[in-house]
Amino acid sequence: MGKVWIDGKLVDQADAKVSVYDHGLLYGDGCFEGIRAYDGRVLKLRSHLNRMYGSAERIRLKPAYRPEQIDKAIRDTLNANGMRDAYIRLIFTRGVGTLGLHPFRCPVPGTIVITDKIQLYPPELYENGMKVIVAKRPRIPIACLDPAIKSLNYLNNILAKIEAIEADVLEAIMLNVDGYVAECTGDNIFIIKNGQIATPSAEAGILHGITRQFVLNEIAPEMGFEVTEKMMKLDEVLNADEVFLTGTAAEIIGVNQIDDRTIGNGKVGAITKKLAQEFRKRVTKNAPED
Ligand code: PMP
Repeated sequence: MGKVWIDGKLVDQADAKVSVYDHGLLYGDGCFEGIRAYDGRVLKLRSHLNRMYGSAERIRLKPAYRPEQIDKAIRDTLNANGMRDAYIRLIFTRGVGTLGLHPFRCPVPGTIVITDKIQLYPPELYENGMKVIVAKRPRIPIACLDPAIKSLNYLNNILAKIEAIEADVLEAIMLNVDGYVAECTGDNIFIIKNGQIATPSAEAGILHGITRQFVLNEIAPEMGFEVTEKMMKLDEVLNADEVFLTGTAAEIIGVNQIDDRTIGNGKVGAITKKLAQEFRKRVTKNAPED
């Protein structure tokens, strides 16, 4: 049976349980990361740990373990499960407390590492492009709960995901309350127009995706593409030559239709294909852990 790491111990999956008094369950009070291992290397682990500890700090959660200990816990869990390729879920919960909201009455935060099989979108979507919708529900504003905090409370995204599922697609573009494009329910978004790559800037209210950063700061510029971060209205996305999404689970996936509008020629764009190929190359052999 698979093992899960909870609070310093590797336990059988069936015994991996949290208390009904954990504020992670009662209030979605906590934070998490989705990470990938490729052939035994943990892609961008340093960046994921930085974001995780950043999320924790912003919700005033004092982690029970140091980043080096979490690094080891992740590798121990992968080893215990004999996995070299995996999706890794790291979770900090507020911990066990009373039924009241008060977060500081939960003395010990919970720490969980799960390693599981990778759940990608269906392969044919990578080949032919993916259809998405524009969610009617806006992304929660920075002033209310900054989407840069990867909090355990994902209901804003889940409600938009339900809109997508009810429209028979798997992902939804979310606008912010001012009508600017922010991100998708579990992926960041990029557009390409006349060879220029652009992605919504952080001020639109987005999760600062690790895959987004990888494309923005390393893959695209090193391939000679110019990339800009900017505020964009939906029109700009609908009129783009190419649109693609990035995420730890999704990697890079082309979008060929948004609502009833065909993007480009209705296939995965040429530059998107090149970026996706380069991404694959960089993660399959000696994936960077920085
Ligand atoms: N936006 C949201 C809301 C997400 O949940 C995710 C997935 N964690 C992303 C973007 C993509 O981020 P990353 O590349 O770090 O997985």
